[in-house]
Amino acid sequence: MSHSSPRRERSRFMKRHISKHAVTIDTSKARSNADVVKMCVKELGLIEFPCGRKDAGCDIYWHELHFDDNPSPSGGKVNKFPGMEDICSKMTLFRCLDTMRELYPTDYDFYPRTWYLPAQFEKFSSEVQKMKEKRKKLRQTFIIKPYGGSSGEGIYLLKEPKDYISAYPSKRGMCHVAQEYMANVYLIDDFKFDFRIYVVLKSLEPLEFYICKEGLARFSTVPYQSPTKKNMHETFMHLTNYSLNKRSKTFSHSEEVDEGSKRTLSSVMSRIDMNGQDSRQVWEDIENVVCKTVVAIVPEAKVAMHRSIAPGKSDPTYFQVLGFDILLLNDLKPILLEINGSPSLFMDSEQEISPGVTKYVRSTKDEEVKFPLIRDTLLLVMSPHKRKHCEKKRRKRMMHLKKLRSSHDSLIARPSSEVMTCIQTYDDKEVQDVEKGKEEVEDTMNQQMSDLYVDVDLPQFMENYHSENEHEQENVIEEGEHHDPYEDDEPHLEDNCLKQLYPGLYREECDQFRTLERAARLYINFVGVRKSPGMSSSAFRTFVRKCELSKKGLTNAAVDIMYIDLQRRWDHMNPGSSTTCLSFQAFLDACFEIARNSFSAPTKIEMLNGVLSYCESQLHLKENET
Ligand code: ADP
Repeated sequence: MSHSSPRRERSRFMKRHISKHAVTIDTSKARSNADVVKMCVKELGLIEFPCGRKDAGCDIYWHELHFDDNPSPSGGKVNKFPGMEDICSKMTLFRCLDTMRELYPTDYDFYPRTWYLPAQFEKFSSEVQKMKEKRKKLRQTFIIKPYGGSSGEGIYLLKEPKDYISAYPSKRGMCHVAQEYMANVYLIDDFKFDFRIYVVLKSLEPLEFYICKEGLARFSTVPYQSPTKKNMHETFMHLTNYSLNKRSKTFSHSEEVDEGSKRTLSSVMSRIDMNGQDSRQVWEDIENVVCKTVVAIVPEAKVAMHRSIAPGKSDPTYFQVLGFDILLLNDLKPILLEINGSPSLFMDSEQEISPGVTKYVRSTKDEEVKFPLIRDTLLLVMSPHKRKHCEKKRRKRMMHLKKLRSSHDSLIARPSSEVMTCIQTYDDKEVQDVEKGKEEVEDTMNQQMSDLYVDVDLPQFMENYHSENEHEQENVIEEGEHHDPYEDDEPHLEDNCLKQLYPGLYREECDQFRTLERAARLYINFVGVRKSPGMSSSAFRTFVRKCELSKKGLTNAAVDIMYIDLQRRWDHMNPGSSTTCLSFQAFLDACFEIARNSFSAPTKIEMLNGVLSYCESQLHLKENET
């Protein structure tokens, strides 16, 4: 007879008792996101594995930072796309946008003109010179940001490109982006602010993404003035990062809706309306910026996804919450500043209570935005039948709550999160229930309930709860046959905070800009095996041969020269990350060059379409031949 260790027994037990309808979530890498994720776990009745799950995979994996944090879980849904961190870095993001601006100049006008330094220093200097010649009184300021930087670190303003060179020797090896500083910004109470807009990329193939209807506005803490040589160094005036401004003496922690250095997006929108301007138009413009930006990064994301997964592994699926930083110009035009692949989900604010002593205080504004965002994101990525089950359970809990509330006036004064926690605590105990015995659980539950609500009729509540749960089981098994008493009731759940942008509302607008995904498909086709760092010279030659580009005048010698030239150019743009292969951006350059030489047309986009259609048709012919 074999004896299992108590631990193994326990895990066998746990495994057996996780209902097939339950949603499991691995939060072992959630780190600073753990707080909000745990709240959602409770609210939605998920089964959490805070130390990871050994006996089986989880439905969802939540990582704070990188896809790589968890060495390729097989199956499940992972909350980071591979390679997204690099795509969101300033250099890659603005390159993607620049490529789109080349193709669609009038549509991609929502981000500051950007140069990559030091590689484009000459271009930066000469273009600024030209700008000055055009507009004699031009007093343009530039903002310099480290390539992979975040939280405002290493950012400074300058007036003349030559000032970059004088700063550069001490920063040898560092790359920066230089941008036009948008000086003419919309102010509230004299302060500069930017929006943090949350976007959920649910899937790349097929493309599906959402915008969160609520967001945050982060304010600088020194009244704004246009940049001058005197005030250029005033970080708290020109930068709106929370991570910087929280250190300012004038940072306001006010929890009042229309006050404080951090506010909700909706409160700022109301202010815009109060000022007699149209916040609905502003929101629509922001949605447009989000759509165009997502479309611009999707080709890179597809390439990165292909590259990251080792051959033979069963792929998980991915989703990601992205933070878009958007500034409003004085005329309310939104300007994209950056995308954050791991936006802060922290719900506490840091407050210095005495010199050097900091305490963390729950920020209701952060909670108001981040909790529904993550809750609805989790619901969004669940498989439909699990989501249905989850929503049903949640609805029932809400109904119980309603009953409790109506029969006990004293409850009304309590915050709903407190009540939810209490009821969910019981739900979490379901698994332990088997081991500990129902009585013990009920004792604990009773204790918790009585601690919170002295005058609740507990025995009655528990009885109702058990009978509802049993009823629910039956309903799940024989879905559709039983009448669920709650089915007809109003759900009483808050509205979903996520709004589908694609393929919903903006399908047509986005589709007209999705040309580069065709180029990404070609690239992936020839990059070959996964985990490859890029397109090798032989893969590039194969691309030219299979697409029969020689018929368009491309000789073998020209192909080799083009390859070496592109490789050199792109190595120069990315010092420190030199590879012997062509990146996707370099491959796009190759397509543009071929287009210029052999597919002449009035516009760049028409030329590119010419190359892509030609290559696609050649490959299609080849496929049919084999
Ligand atoms: P980081 O990733 O380090 O936060 P950002 O690009 O978000 O870098 O810039 C930090 C802050 O600087 C922004 O929140 C914004 O207030 C300000 N800022 C950045 N770029 C510009 C710009 N082009 N024009 C005006 N202000 C800018």
